[in-house]
Amino acid sequence: MKQIGPHVSIAGGVENAPLNAKKIGATGFGMFTKNQRQWTAKPLTPEGIAAFKENLKACGYGPEAVLPHDSYLINLGHPEAEKLEKSRNAFLDEVERVEQLGLKYLNFHPGSHLRSIEPDACLDRIAQSLNIAIDQTETAVLLIENTAGQGSNLGSTFGEIARIIDGVKDRSRVAVCLDTCHLFAAGYDLRTPESMDRVWDEFDRIIGFEYLKGMHLNDAKSTLESHLDRHHSLGQGNIGWSAFERIAADSRFDGIPLVLETIDEELWPDEVARLLSVNQS
Ligand SMILES: [Zn+2]
Ligand SMILES: [Zn+2]
Repeated sequence: MKQIGPHVSIAGGVENAPLNAKKIGATGFGMFTKNQRQWTAKPLTPEGIAAFKENLKACGYGPEAVLPHDSYLINLGHPEAEKLEKSRNAFLDEVERVEQLGLKYLNFHPGSHLRSIEPDACLDRIAQSLNIAIDQTETAVLLIENTAGQGSNLGSTFGEIARIIDGVKDRSRVAVCLDTCHLFAAGYDLRTPESMDRVWDEFDRIIGFEYLKGMHLNDAKSTLESHLDRHHSLGQGNIGWSAFERIAADSRFDGIPLVLETIDEELWPDEVARLLSVNQS
């Protein structure tokens, strides 16, 4: 069975995340491990960590069914030394929290050049940021999320993501999370079986399916190649339900967390149930 579920709330403590996911019938889920709009957070307590692990197990989720997401403030390719340092420190804290919770993955947005350094220099800086975090931590696999290419955000093409991976010394600690809305907004057309096949073939050629360790399943309010990051509920946007059904039926997406960041919480149980009801090919 596929590991599918929404990005759930941690209000009241991280230990509530598995309970929130279970309630709506999810077989996997996404979460933050702290308030995503703040630089620092109180350390996780031993009690909170124990309660999280207990709830995760009780709800039947393995660590590989969970996709933690880092703070939106972090820019691992920041052009300015002081701000880069701040991002690297905050990122290290995020990796440590994931490991404390006994989880496997951490999903992050690559970074932005802010129009003050060359894109390639920024990509190399992001890879260096990953090397620094990997050196100081143990096991967590860091998932580069593809972007819509909004503003000066890098990572909207498979080539840019491949360049970051190339710069990482320990390849066992780096992977990729593909967001369908971001793919579509970046110009990767998922609407027909043929166009979707071309996208996956290109992904396999330039990056490789062995690096795919998570996905964000979002329909798009934005149009193809608009470079706008605007999520929609599945089937209500410009990508359409059939694309998500093809993903649900495709065994290449087994065993990794498939996380919904769709805009209407009320629809989450139905979205999850419909995806889980698709026959596996
Ligand atoms: Zn996403
Ligand atoms: Zn997005």
